[in-house]
Order: sequence, then C-alpha cells, then structure tokens
Amino acid sequence: MTDTNYFLEATYLIASILFVMGLKSLSHPDTARRGMLMAAAGMAAAVLGTLFHPAINGWQGYVWIMTGLAIGSAIGIPMAMVPMTAMPQRTALSHAFGALAAALVGVAEFSLRGHSLGPVKVGALGFEVMLGSLTFTGSLIAAAKLQEMMRGTPIQFKGQHIVNLGIFLTMIGLFVSWQLNTGAIWMFYSMIGCALVFGVALVIPIGSADMPVVMSLLNSYAGLSSASTGFVLSNNVLIIAGTLDGFSGFILSILMCKAMNRSMSNVLFGGFGAIIAEEGGAVGGTMREVTLDDVAVQLAYANQVVFVPGYGMATAQAQHAVRELGNLLEERGVSVKYGIHPVAGRMPGHMNVLLAEANVPYSSLYEMDQINPELPTTDVAVVIGANDVVNPDARDNPKSPIAGMPIIEVDRARSVVVLKRGKGKGFSGLENPLFFKSVTGMLYGDAKTSLTNLAQAVQKV
Ligand code: NAP
Repeated sequence: MTDTNYFLEATYLIASILFVMGLKSLSHPDTARRGMLMAAAGMAAAVLGTLFHPAINGWQGYVWIMTGLAIGSAIGIPMAMVPMTAMPQRTALSHAFGALAAALVGVAEFSLRGHSLGPVKVGALGFEVMLGSLTFTGSLIAAAKLQEMMRGTPIQFKGQHIVNLGIFLTMIGLFVSWQLNTGAIWMFYSMIGCALVFGVALVIPIGSADMPVVMSLLNSYAGLSSASTGFVLSNNVLIIAGTLDGFSGFILSILMCKAMNRSMSNVLFGGFGAIIAEEGGAVGGTMREVTLDDVAVQLAYANQVVFVPGYGMATAQAQHAVRELGNLLEERGVSVKYGIHPVAGRMPGHMNVLLAEANVPYSSLYEMDQINPELPTTDVAVVIGANDVVNPDARDNPKSPIAGMPIIEVDRARSVVVLKRGKGKGFSGLENPLFFKSVTGMLYGDAKTSLTNLAQAVQKV
C-alpha cells in the first residue's frame, strides 16, 4: 500500500467511526446535536481522504472536483436555510440528489469498466443504478407534493396496482436478463427507464401527510444504493455509510408506521388521505368556546399544566411563545410539562426539534408513555394545534380508521384547553370527539397569537 492509500484508508476509517458514533448519539435529544457534528466531521474526513484518491487524474481532475464543489455549495447553502416547516421537502430533495449521484456513478462505471466487472460487482452495480433511479424520481415527487407544487392527496386510478406491478416486474425482469447478458446495453438503459417511471408510480398514490414515512423508506433505498456503489468501487466508507443509512431509514419507517398503528403496505398502497376523507363521519354535540381570561386564570392557579403540541404549533411557529408562557407559569410555582407524541407534526422528532430551538429544557419533555399516567392528576392539558394525536376515538371507537393508534390521553385531565384556528381537521381528515367533550374548552385563533395573549393575561392574574 502506498502512503496515499494509507492516508485514504485512515481517513475512511475515521469517517466510518464518526458516522457510527454520530448515529448512536442521534438516538437521544441530549446528544443529538453532538451526533450531527460528528457525522458532519465524518463526511468532511471522507471528502478530504477522497481528494487524495490515486484515481484522480492530475490537475484536470481537481478542476472537475472543484467545479462540482462550487455548484453543490451554491445549491446546498440556500437549501440549508429553509424554515423548519419546509424541512421535509428539503430532505426529499437531498435524497433525490444523493440517489441521482449514486445512479450516475453506476452508469459511468458501467460505461468505463462494465465489460471487466465480475458477476458480483455487476449485481451490485445493477442494484445501485436501479435503486438510485427510482429513489431519484420518487423523492422528486415527494418534494413536489410536500411543497404543494402538485396535488398532495393520493393520485389514484383504476387498475393502478396492476400497472405498478407490471412496471415493477418489467424492471426486475430487465435487471435479471441484463445480469445474464451484460453485453445487452439496451437492457441496462431500459431498466433505468423503468426504475425512473416506477419511482413516480410508487409515490403518486401516497398522500402528502404519509410522505415522511415514504421519505424515510426512500432514504433507506438511497442508502442501499450508496452501499452498492461502495461494492462496485471497492470503497469501504461508502459501504459502511450506505448500510447505516439504508437500515436506519428502514427501521425509522417501521417505527413511524407503528406509532400511527398502520402497516407499511397500508401506507404504500392504501391511499390513506382519500379513504379517510370519505369515511370520516360527523360527531354530535357542540364545542364549548372559552375566553382568554378564563384560561389565564385556570393556568395561573393550576398545580400542574401539560402542554401537548402538534402540527399547528409548527405551522404557527409558536414554540417560543409556549416556552415564554411555560416560564411565566413556572415562576408562579406551577409544574409545567410537555407531552410529546411520536408522530405529532409531520416528521419524526418534529416537536422535539422545535421545542429545543426555543430552549425548552429536555427534562420538561415527556414521551407519550410517561405523560399519560400523569394526566388524571393534571389540572389543565393545553393542546396546541394537535388533533389526531389526542383523538380519543383511536382508543374508544374500534370502527374508527385510526383505531388502535396510541394517543396522548388529554381527555383524562381535569380540564382541557384546545388552541386551534377553527374547525379544521387533522391530517387524517377525521372529526375529533375530544372537542365536543364537557371537559374541553376551545380557544380559537392562531396558536402563536393565543399563547402570546395568554402570557400577557397570566401576568395580570
Ligand atoms: P394534525 O392532526 O394534523 O392536526 C393539526 C391541527 O392543527 C389541525 O386540526 C389545525 O386545525 C391546527 N392548526 C393548523 N395551523 C394552526 C395554527 N396556525 N394555529 C393553531 N392551530 C393550527 O396534527 P397532529 O395532532 O400533530 O397529528 C399529526 C398527524 O400527522 C398524525 O395523524 C400522524 O399520524 C401524521 N403523520 C405524522 C408523521 C410524523 O412523522 N410526525 C408522519 C406521517 C404522518 P385548524 O385548521 O382548525 O387550526
């Protein structure tokens, strides 16, 4: 091994260790920030090592690399500055670019060395290009749906499953045939064409609210595609990073489905938004509206208040306002806790990230299983733009489309105040009986405005 190779392998080893440690640190909010920095340092080490790769052809090679770096930075820096609410579509675009890069590396490798690669590497190259291509178009559709550049509700047509199955089987058929006859270039490019179409076909029937699950699944495909690239290029860091990415994405998808009490096939083939909209029936009774001053008095004289944030807190960007109100209450001796549902909002950890941004101490955040036993002894549960994650029908009504989904049981608290703008439904499109219960008071308005006004009113109590 030459000195350069030792340096290259050493940087790849350091990068791999940093990726593993970074991922491990991401498993807890206290260490997540450090985990992100470790992963970024790992990526920097991998890039630095690669700059000394013996395959780079003199200064011309570096000109190409620097041009790519400049273009990538020009796109990446503005992309990193999008608001938190646009993070899902931003992540989808990152997956699209990553997958496109893996697919293009595979195409280049096939054009340059296709005839001399052994059967194992040809197999890996096929997977790389196929998964990379379908992830590219699938992620672009996911980003377009989330950005509302195309219809967010499921796009379905008669015989869709048959058509999708047909495209899938053709793609796999071309993959297998090309493996047996790698000289048939048309099969290789036809397989890519099918994979590009399959990516679109896979994602259009999925509603935008299910997109985070789909995205973590696409993330997993992009990771496996990169791992295959690593096999083709004999690049250890790509194999390790791709495999970590592939399996963590897959595990995350399963965990999200579990938290929504849905199966993966229901997410992928169920057309959830469309079905629920039809099935969501009306709930009888009237909603009781409460005034700001009433709620302020209730909060000020409570022993314990539990805030339960949801998607509405994210859209209202109300995390700072809730922290200020929480601080005021704590100063008055009220015990303030935050109940976090695993799928509140629109992406995993959405509420944790927003509340951490507003400097809410992690020790005040309680997971669903920790907060539920506390609710019967809680004086006021304040629901901030949450709907589905506090819907008691999931627990009480076996016929409900969300039956069995675990919820934060705010209706067991002594009093519930719901902050929302009007009678809007949650992502499931279902009516929520919580809003009609006698224990519940509705405080209408944008969550940020309501919380800011509540903080002022509490100071006057
Ligand atoms: P939700 O059920 O979508 O309800 C959000 C509520 O916020 C709406 O009822 C809306 O009512 C209110 N709202 C919107 N903007 C507001 C504003 N500016 N101020 C005050 N209220 C506002 O949200 P959730 O309870 O957080 O549930 C999340 C849903 O997303 C679950 O069904 C979950 O399964 C799904 N999901 C989550 C993930 C994830 O990873 N987190 C992934 C996929 C799917 P108004 O219009 O009346 O204001």
